[in-house]
Amino acid sequence: MARYIGALCRICRREGDKLFLKGDRCYTEKCAIERRKYPPGQHGQGYKKLSDYGLQLREKQKVRKMYGILERQFRKYFHEAERKKGITGEVLLQLVEFRLDSMVYRMGFAPNRRGARQIIRHGHVLVNGREVNLPSFGLKKGDVIEIKESSRSIPEIADSLSKSEHRGIPAWVEVDSANFKGKVVNIPSRDEIQLPVQEQLIVELYSK
Ligand code: SF4
Repeated sequence: MARYIGALCRICRREGDKLFLKGDRCYTEKCAIERRKYPPGQHGQGYKKLSDYGLQLREKQKVRKMYGILERQFRKYFHEAERKKGITGEVLLQLVEFRLDSMVYRMGFAPNRRGARQIIRHGHVLVNGREVNLPSFGLKKGDVIEIKESSRSIPEIADSLSKSEHRGIPAWVEVDSANFKGKVVNIPSRDEIQLPVQEQLIVELYSK
């Protein structure tokens, strides 16, 4: 998968919102969005007024970048959301939330989704007792995610878990930190996902 290796905070500043790409820094006043809420680059210090299309495009990019998903794969999630029962925008957010990398991050085993992808690819994560090294693996309610016993002493994982309460554990997961284990207990409603996103704009963009 293509990988962006530039400054992560620039992505947030481009989108004008906190995308929580870094980890602990995102929850402090050192966050670049708190200190410099204007687009990166030397031209202008404010966000331009966007056309309807521009607004739709930015909203889509914001979600894509927050979850680290490439355009082609994101569009597939949209078509899958369209086929499922429910409000397409809400189902789309549920689908991306139920990716293994997002869930590993939400459970606190990694400080951000990028870190979650790394520990998954390196084979440190089990789903229902079996190793899964595909970050986009789709989960369902009831699935149990666990850090392999031999990987529990990795400082980055233990450190992230110890700080996870400070970041907040969402209502749709249960975490047993002592045993490096978490369970998906519910499918979150739109309100519970709490993202600063107007998903309807993404639906409008892809429905053209
Ligand atoms: Fe985004 Fe985090 Fe950087 Fe803030 S600190 S701009 S939320 S990546």
